[in-house]
Amino acid sequence: MPRSNIQAGCFSGLSLRNLLHRRCQSVSSSKEPFRTPAESKDIPRSVVGGVDLELKHHSNHHGACFGAQEDWILEPDTPPSYSASSFYEVEDVKDAGLSADIIQTIEKKVDELNPELRELSQEMLGHPELAFEEYFAHDILVNFMAKHGFQVTRNYAGLETAWRAEYSVGTGGRVLGVNSEMDALPGIGHACGHNLIAISGCGIAVAIKAALVAHCIPGKVIILGTPPEESVGGKIILLEKGAYKEMDVCLMSHPSAGAIGSVSNGTTTSSQTMYVDFTGKAAHAAAAPWEGKNALDAAVISYSAISALRQQLKPDVRVHGIIEGKNWRANTIPDNSRLTYIVRSPSKVEMMEVASRVTGCFEAAASATGCTVKIAMMSPYFDLVQNSVLGREFAKNARCRYDMTTHMAGSGASTDFGNVSYEIPSLHPLYAIPTEPNGGNHTPAFARSAATQEAHDATMKVTKGLALTGFRVLHDAAFFTEVKTAFENDMKAHAGNRRHHNECLIAA
Ligand SMILES: [Zn+2]
Ligand SMILES: [Zn+2]
Repeated sequence: MPRSNIQAGCFSGLSLRNLLHRRCQSVSSSKEPFRTPAESKDIPRSVVGGVDLELKHHSNHHGACFGAQEDWILEPDTPPSYSASSFYEVEDVKDAGLSADIIQTIEKKVDELNPELRELSQEMLGHPELAFEEYFAHDILVNFMAKHGFQVTRNYAGLETAWRAEYSVGTGGRVLGVNSEMDALPGIGHACGHNLIAISGCGIAVAIKAALVAHCIPGKVIILGTPPEESVGGKIILLEKGAYKEMDVCLMSHPSAGAIGSVSNGTTTSSQTMYVDFTGKAAHAAAAPWEGKNALDAAVISYSAISALRQQLKPDVRVHGIIEGKNWRANTIPDNSRLTYIVRSPSKVEMMEVASRVTGCFEAAASATGCTVKIAMMSPYFDLVQNSVLGREFAKNARCRYDMTTHMAGSGASTDFGNVSYEIPSLHPLYAIPTEPNGGNHTPAFARSAATQEAHDATMKVTKGLALTGFRVLHDAAFFTEVKTAFENDMKAHAGNRRHHNECLIAA
C-alpha cells in the first residue's frame, strides 16, 4: 500500500524539452527579463509569518542557475502527434464571448468573495493535512459552499474527506464541473499550494451560480472536494466511482513557480508509481554473513542500475525513487528493503516502456543477491489533455482582462487530473505565484509563497478567468460544440495512449 510520505504527482516546475512552445506569449511577456538572484535587487519584499521574504520573478527553470535562460533551453523538438492539437494561437480568437453584464456579474461576485476566500486559504495553511486526512479542509469548505446556497454532500463517494456541492437553475442545461484540492505534504505543509486550488474552485462555483441566477440561464455547477493528489490519485478513485459522469466539462488550476503574472496551458507528464519489496535472509553480519541474503544490497544494486539506465533515457523522461527499510542494523544482514520509484514521460506509451526497463533493474538485483522481489504497479497518472478551445478562451480572458501573460510550457510533474482529462473536456492552467530562488513546488519556501497576498491575488485572477470560461460552456451552445469537437479529435489522436485506469494495477 502507498505510504503517506510518497509524492507521486504534482508540480516541480520542470519544463519539458519538447513542450517549450511560447507562441502564445504576449509582447509584455517577451520583454520580461530573466534575472539572476544577484540582479534582483529591486524585487518586492513581503513579510510572511514574521519573516522578511524576498520575492522575485522566478523562472520555472530554478534548478539550474547558469547563464541566461535563453542560452540553455534546448531547442524544442517537434511535438508528438498526440499533442499537436493542444497548441494554438490566442491571437486567432476574435469572438466576443460573454456579454458585458454577465462578465460583470462574475467578476463582482469573485471580488465580493475575496476576503472570505483569503480566510479559508489561511485556515488551510494553518492546518495542513496529509492524504485522506483532510478533515479540517473538508469541513470548512463544505460549510462555505452550504453557506452560499449549494446542496452539499459530505464524505462523498465513500471517501471520508471527499465532498460534493451542486447548484442548478432550470432544467436541460449543461453541467460544469470544478475541482478543489486539499492535501498537503509531510513536514512542509502546503508546499504545493493546494490551499489556493481549494479556494479557487469554491470561488469559480459560487461566481457561476451567481451568474446563472442573475441572468436566468439554465445549467448546473458541481464542485468536487478531491482527496489526495500527492500520493494516491483521489480523482482516479472518484472517476471510477462515477463522480465525473454528469459533467460536460471540468476545470481546475494549480499554482507554480514562474514569471510573475504568467499562466501556462501546457501539459504534464504521464507517471507510474511502483512499490518494490525485496525479501532476503537475516544473518550476523560478522559471525555468519554467508548465511544471509542481503535485501539492502538488492536495493542498492537496483538504485545503481537505474542510475546507469538514466543515461540512455530521453531528457524529458524522469525516473526517481527512494530506499527504505525496517529494523536495519549495521551488525545484521538486512532481510528487507523497499524502494518506491516513479517513472514519468510526456507520453503514456513511452512511460510504460521505461517502466518496463526499470522493472528489469529490480529483477536483475533480485537475481544478483538471491532475494525475492515483489513489484506493485499503482494506477498511472495520465498526461494532461488540455482542451484547446477552453484553453484559448481562458488565455484570452487572462490576457485581455487580467493582464496576464500566457504560454504553453509544460511541466515535468504529473497530476491525477490527467485521467479526468481523458474522460471529459478539461482545462488545468498552471499559474505563477511569486517564489524565492530555488523555492518551487514541494519546498518549504513554496509553502511560504502560497501564504502571500500576491499568491492570493494571482489566484483570484485565475479564478475569474476560469469562471468566465466555464460560464461560456453553460451559456453558449456553439462554443460547447467546439469544445466537444476538440475533445473528440484529441481522443482520436491519443488512441493507443489510453488505458483503463486499473489495467496497470498488478502485483508481481
Ligand atoms: Zn500540487
Ligand atoms: Zn505537489
